[in-house]
Amino acid sequence: MINFSETNLYSDQPVTCPNCGLRSEIILDLSHTINQLQVHRCPGAECRGEFVMQCDENLDLAISV
Ligand SMILES: [Zn+2]
Repeated sequence: MINFSETNLYSDQPVTCPNCGLRSEIILDLSHTINQLQVHRCPGAECRGEFVMQCDENLDLAISV
């Protein structure tokens, strides 16, 4: 289950897993939608964390939620 309340912000930097720091892979790219979200999954065999990234440009929106 993806926890959307723990949305992270992404910018030009490569996205890494907040748990173990491994470079994550995009499993769902909604960056072209109004929400500008990307769902990432950690490739770590013992982690497999899934997390949501939100584009930096939406910082104001993220704060107002
Ligand atoms: Zn991880």
